[in-house]
Amino acid sequence: MRLDDIDPTRNARDRGFGGGGGGGGGIMNLLFFLPMIFGRKVGCLMIVVILGAMAVFGMFGGGGMNTGTTPATQVASGQNGGAAGTACSTGARLESCRVMALADTTWEQIFQQAGQRYSPATINFFTGNVQSGCGAASSAVGPFYCPADHGVYLDTAFFDELDQRFRASGDAARIYVVAHEMGHHIQNLLGTSGQVSRAQARASETEANRLSVALELQADCFAGVLFGRNRARLEGGDIEEGMTAANAIGDDTLQRQSQGGVRPETFTHGTSAQRMAALRKGLESGDPGVCTF
Ligand SMILES: [Zn+2]
Repeated sequence: MRLDDIDPTRNARDRGFGGGGGGGGGIMNLLFFLPMIFGRKVGCLMIVVILGAMAVFGMFGGGGMNTGTTPATQVASGQNGGAAGTACSTGARLESCRVMALADTTWEQIFQQAGQRYSPATINFFTGNVQSGCGAASSAVGPFYCPADHGVYLDTAFFDELDQRFRASGDAARIYVVAHEMGHHIQNLLGTSGQVSRAQARASETEANRLSVALELQADCFAGVLFGRNRARLEGGDIEEGMTAANAIGDDTLQRQSQGGVRPETFTHGTSAQRMAALRKGLESGDPGVCTF
């Protein structure tokens, strides 16, 4: 994907090397769903699903539903590392900073067209462990988004893992990863992720997992929208690279590799086929309205 002409985002922070991290609550990531505290069952999850769908259609279809959340304060430089300028300096970081800038521009246009106010996300680079607005987290969980501070968190070592362990190479595979986390940012702005996490707190584990799959597939679809809205930037092989990455990180594929079998009730992100279909849907239409929850 051609990104060279894009100024990297100014909303970038270098969080440096972390120590002693644990699992952060409430984060949304690319691979694994962090353990949540599940409470009693309720039977009204469909209401939340419908509300989530209304949030999207209300916004993108010109309806009057106000689903915005209060934007977090933007911080220009980190408490634990360099300012935005140095955070985006190296190859993989520079590329991700450009993707963030492209995503902010693209989504801002979409929000403006729908008469809604957009607020940008921040990208936080770290190595090992990091203290996010959602608690401490380790790079072992993969890249993630923290709704509380509107932050995408990325240890770029994950890109080596993507290449070597998941056999998903190429820039579009990496761009898909960042675009997926930005999909969670959009869900946060729409209020969808908040509704889902409240419903999950009351749901059975199986129901909570089902909600998680729907949320993750919508984030994949939103990632596709970023590609679809910037078709002129696509180069040969980009779509295949994105699809290869989506295929590699499907729950069924990951479980088959690590456990030798699949347990669909434990899926949190969707199957490889579902993830590829969601990415393709957003990509082909370029329309977030197709990314139903
Ligand atoms: Zn995710």
